[in-house]
Amino acid sequence: VAKGDGKRRWRRYEASVHTAIVERLELRAALARAVSERTFTLDYQPIVVMGSGAILGFEALVRWRHPTLGFVPPAEFVAIAEETGLIEAIGDWVLHEAVRAVAGWRQVRAGRATPYVSVNVSAHQLRAPAFVDKVSAALTAAGVDPSGVMLEITESSLLRDDDRAWAELAALRRIGVRVAIDDFGTGFSSLSYLQRMPVDVLKIDRSFTSTISGSPRQRALVEAIVGLAGTLGLEVIAEGVESRVERDLLGDLGCPYGQGYLFSRPLAAAAATALLSGPTAVVPPARSTLPDRS
Ligand code: C2E
Ligand code: MG
Ligand code: MG
Ligand code: MG
Repeated sequence: VAKGDGKRRWRRYEASVHTAIVERLELRAALARAVSERTFTLDYQPIVVMGSGAILGFEALVRWRHPTLGFVPPAEFVAIAEETGLIEAIGDWVLHEAVRAVAGWRQVRAGRATPYVSVNVSAHQLRAPAFVDKVSAALTAAGVDPSGVMLEITESSLLRDDDRAWAELAALRRIGVRVAIDDFGTGFSSLSYLQRMPVDVLKIDRSFTSTISGSPRQRALVEAIVGLAGTLGLEVIAEGVESRVERDLLGDLGCPYGQGYLFSRPLAAAAATALLSGPTAVVPPARSTLPDRS
């Protein structure tokens, strides 16, 4: 290695860190503007009965199109929103919009089925005062029964600040809102925690689903999770089902519900409503088993 190389590399490194910091600051500013201008949208991904594709509900997934950068994945901007506290305002908007949507679906499906909406909630929102009141106000405003809403909390955030978050979740369950542990299997819940957690549903993380077809060990793990859920009286939903093989294996292992590209990608609000307005409210059989890039 020539003598100047290390220094040059460092310069380049410095420059890229600088760029990253500037980009992040710009993203923060843009996100703050987006919050005041309400330029977010929600997509809705069906949650279905594994075998039939019958729609039980939809998970609301927030979308943000930056004016010049284009679509920014939620995994990125939600993290920034959490750092800056903007997540509270974004979360409020998401909650109201999702509850408004479920009110519409329940009208469409009146007398036939009662789809729910599942809303991702970050630990920051749970920690904010009066989260329960916010949820029940949103329900009342839209005239939606609490059974119309499920809240998803990631396993890792449930473990981080248990007392506050757990009390809040317990209060939500008392009014009839259901609670799911998102990305289950990626945190480190102990069995004794799990038994005491104020939740109704486990969502098995996509990392299990995506390796299930290749590995007997993963299959055994999923089977153990499904068994555990049964013992604890919890419902299970498998995330990230992309192929028929995965769907069939999950079904064989006793996992009754699923979500993933095989059934449907996340849909714009109108498309979700159209799907529910159909005669059956079943996701049509997927033509391809692998996601196309879109
Ligand atoms: P999540 O809650 O685990 O949501 C599932 C993610 O997996 C979504 O990504 C969804 O589009 C994607 N997905 C669904 N089916 C498949 C599949 O078959 N294959 C693959 N490869 N991916 C699939 P998305 O929309 O990019 O969201 C990423 C994460 O951002 C979410 O993970 C959630 O943690 C967070 N997020 C999304 N919306 C909100 C929100 O409104 N509030 C909060 N706090 N977080 C949100
Ligand atoms: Mg989720
Ligand atoms: Mg998840
Ligand atoms: Mg996830």
